[in-house]
Amino acid sequence: MIDVGGVGYLVEASARTLEALGATGGEVTIHTEMLVGEDFLRLLGFAKAEERDWFRLLTSVQGVGAKVALAILSALEITDLQRALASGDSAMIARANGVGPKLAQRITHELKDKAGALGGIAGGGAAYVSTTPGPLADAVTALTGLGFKPGEASSAVAAASEELGADASLDALVRVALKKAAKMTNRIRHAACRCGQIRIACTGEPIRISVCHCGECKARSGSAFAAQVRFPEEQVSTEGEAKMWQYTGDSGNIADFFFCGTCGSGVWYRARPYHDAYAVPLGNFEPGHGFVPDYSVYEDRMEPWVSITGDAIEHYD
Ligand SMILES: [Zn+2]
Ligand SMILES: [Zn+2]
Repeated sequence: MIDVGGVGYLVEASARTLEALGATGGEVTIHTEMLVGEDFLRLLGFAKAEERDWFRLLTSVQGVGAKVALAILSALEITDLQRALASGDSAMIARANGVGPKLAQRITHELKDKAGALGGIAGGGAAYVSTTPGPLADAVTALTGLGFKPGEASSAVAAASEELGADASLDALVRVALKKAAKMTNRIRHAACRCGQIRIACTGEPIRISVCHCGECKARSGSAFAAQVRFPEEQVSTEGEAKMWQYTGDSGNIADFFFCGTCGSGVWYRARPYHDAYAVPLGNFEPGHGFVPDYSVYEDRMEPWVSITGDAIEHYD
């Protein structure tokens, strides 16, 4: 509800806009769109003109009404939306409430070419490289060969090229672009507690995947060791109600452990002082996650019959 010179307007908005508006009672500037139907009149509000432009573009697709468009703009940042469309990643669009796989595919298909014309990735630089033969195009090919989507590969190479300068070698471009691509990949992996009350969506790649043999991890997991995947806070979104238990270890470090009050599954923990990361038990992820540990720690407490193998793994006592 927005008070304009004493008149109250009921304005519908995306979750993102509502967040941007701040606390009740404050003064706001908002971009609006009026929807007029046979028996209704609705006012939609957008924190940024850019969001309104995207709303108009989304609703140009058959089957996408105001509600679905707002749900998409609530679920995705505009840069992510643009990237999802550019790379044809309809699963990303399907994250929004009320958007099924078929509708997501139609949106991706119809807006694939139009999306580039609108603002979004701009600010980070409209990050696509041309397909003219040369090191840039070769670097894109190298990344797509490694499994990155064309849109992701292209924007990662563009970012790498910007960092390294015009005469960067193919080798350097690929090396830097790989690091960037790993951060910007749109892959989403889902985890949940056993009863499904709590759901966790992790976007992009984790900071670290570790196996720990310490007594606390054994007690927490009820197993001979625990495996967890750490994601930065901004890559994690959670649904459902988690209960928290705080534990202070022998070292004096505090960690907040979250679990489901219904089924008892541990769903994530946040260790201090690195409280900006979520450690999610690897076993909570849906099959096909592809996570392979890169660290095995407290191996001096490893059960004698356990062995953690793999070329990439680092072992610590
Ligand atoms: Zn549960
Ligand atoms: Zn541990």
